[in-house]
Amino acid sequence: MILIDGKKTADEIKKEIAIEVKQIISTGKRAPHLAAVLVGHDGGSETYVAFKIKDCEEVGFRSTLIRFDDDVTESELIAKVHELNNDDELDGFIVQLPLPKHISEQKVIEAIDARKDVDGFHPENVGRLVLGLPAFLSATPFGIVELLKRYQIPTSGKNCVIVGRSNIVGRPLSILMSQKAVNATVTVAHSQTKNLNQVCAEADILIAALGSPEFIKANMVKEGAVVIDVGTTRVSAPDTKSGWRLKGDVKFDEVAPKCSYITPVPGGVGPMTRVSLLQNTLLAARSNG
Ligand code: NAP
Repeated sequence: MILIDGKKTADEIKKEIAIEVKQIISTGKRAPHLAAVLVGHDGGSETYVAFKIKDCEEVGFRSTLIRFDDDVTESELIAKVHELNNDDELDGFIVQLPLPKHISEQKVIEAIDARKDVDGFHPENVGRLVLGLPAFLSATPFGIVELLKRYQIPTSGKNCVIVGRSNIVGRPLSILMSQKAVNATVTVAHSQTKNLNQVCAEADILIAALGSPEFIKANMVKEGAVVIDVGTTRVSAPDTKSGWRLKGDVKFDEVAPKCSYITPVPGGVGPMTRVSLLQNTLLAARSNG
């Protein structure tokens, strides 16, 4: 069994990005610039945004954090999105989700200029992904495919089962995995899938993205399978300083011995998601330069 080290791989990619940033700056151009819009004070969102800012610093990007209180109106937020769309000093930006209930996330996403949509959530980018055209790819699917590529894990003709069909993970990942560059035969499973154990047990590559801690047990995994665990659920852990710990969707201890490759949680898909946002921002900066 080979443990896929997402942290190490993400660090390597960050080094590659930092080299390119230095080259860009040496030609007299400005550094790539990412902005993050954060509404309210949700603990998870605060952490994610802080990581994104820190990642930018690490590779030499400029970053800007724009904060709003919980009671910002939808039109105020969309006005800010329009302002960022027109800011020539900015290559890309994200609006951290979730947003408060009184704001339509879909309306906000659709207000973003697709050329600055480095989260890859805008319908234009999703449509381009479906058509196999150059697009900003949603960060987690992008990171997973990059991880498979960098570990040289064969995907062509492999039976890939993805558990979960969300717009940010399962659905776009299913499209990427079935594209010609990857060539897997993809099954997307969800809460209405019948005989899920059996469906999973037929996978050469099993990707768990359902958000249910330790859901995937050894009897759901084929001997020699590649298992990618996307799940990150905070479970209570009184023995830790924070009082919680991250759990994946895979029961790691019993599944790992059966696998050819497996990602851990934490340290698997998470760091690759973070680095994918940097890759998208670099892509945006290149097309602006
Ligand atoms: P989501 O929007 O809640 O979607 C979950 C999907 O799993 C849905 O399609 C749902 O089916 C399916 N599902 C739920 N329970 C199921 C069951 N018992 N059997 C089969 N399918 C089931 O979640 P998400 O945003 O995709 O996130 C999934 C997990 O990945 C979460 O733990 C999240 O925190 C984590 N995540 C991690 C990263 C990272 O960077 N590591 C990034 C994004 C998300 P229905 O469609 O039928 O409801």
